[in-house]
Amino acid sequence: MSKIDIKSMNLKELTAYVEALGEKKFRAGQLYEWIHRKQAADWEEMTNLSRELRGRLSREADLTILCQIDRQVSRLDGTRKYLFALADGNMVESVLMPYHHGNAVCISSQVGCKMGCRFCASAIDGWLRNLTPAEMLDQIYRIQRDTGERVSNLVIMGTGEPMDNFDNVVRFIDLVSDTNGLNISQRSITVSTCGIVPRIRELADRKLSITLAVSLHASSQETRRQLMPIAERYGLDEVLDACRYYFARTGRRLTFEYSLVAGVNDSVEDAVRLARLLGDIHCHVNLIPVNPIRERNFHQSERRAIMSFRTQLEKYGVNVTIRREMGRDIDGACGQLRRRKMREAD
Ligand code: SF4
Repeated sequence: MSKIDIKSMNLKELTAYVEALGEKKFRAGQLYEWIHRKQAADWEEMTNLSRELRGRLSREADLTILCQIDRQVSRLDGTRKYLFALADGNMVESVLMPYHHGNAVCISSQVGCKMGCRFCASAIDGWLRNLTPAEMLDQIYRIQRDTGERVSNLVIMGTGEPMDNFDNVVRFIDLVSDTNGLNISQRSITVSTCGIVPRIRELADRKLSITLAVSLHASSQETRRQLMPIAERYGLDEVLDACRYYFARTGRRLTFEYSLVAGVNDSVEDAVRLARLLGDIHCHVNLIPVNPIRERNFHQSERRAIMSFRTQLEKYGVNVTIRREMGRDIDGACGQLRRRKMREAD
């Protein structure tokens, strides 16, 4: 019999489960606190629960604790890259980025990814499975336990397309922002998507207070198709319409991610076209000097090209920043550490 995924339950569901075991309602609150506030790694840590209850839980329920199998720490900026093993032996990456305003963690939402973006190491081996809400939560919990410091910001931007694992991601957001749990403000959570139009609209209708970051990476449908296979399904115009809908429903400013690839999408003409496209959308553009990856022949834009791209956008009044590169001395780009481990294991 498969065990209950107790870490993916909200407090209401946990209360019903605990009462069905014949326990008092307040036990659910204690259990929830051990799981989500104290991030217990073992039933035996839960010392205010009876020995009998702990024994029963260990037989019936799965606590979903990820096992840290590698950790790289950047000497340049303190970025920590973690590789975790899941119960089935699959591996996922997470990254901790220390900023002056607090610790941000970037988590993975799937094992591998179906989307096949050309500049992404995570896509090379394809998709294996979705992560459960518990597996997403525990990436943060293990990192918090490892550093002893609170995580205050969260980006769902690691391996995987969050909108391709929609229900689990939404449940995860509910759990991680729960005031009885880790209580990360939804305003401090960013979900990144490559542009799955129906899911952007569905997310808009949920009216969460999160930030939606849409990976655009091109100023024309033609270039976008070269970089992102998803553009075959949803055109650039459809994506931008869904973004307008998102703002109309939530009032939340959008972020557009734009990876600059030398000679592909980094010309002044690209910048002007992008500025015109985004003219009526309340947004912020995040320029990302693309991380070179071994398996693809993409090169980072020259510093000069990056700066003039930014200047052009600013001329048109677009709010723009250049993403600070974190952890360049470790396997910085998403998917690289996992791929290296998989190669070593071959
Ligand atoms: S960039 Fe994101 S959506 Fe695209 S292949 Fe990589 S993980 Fe998937």
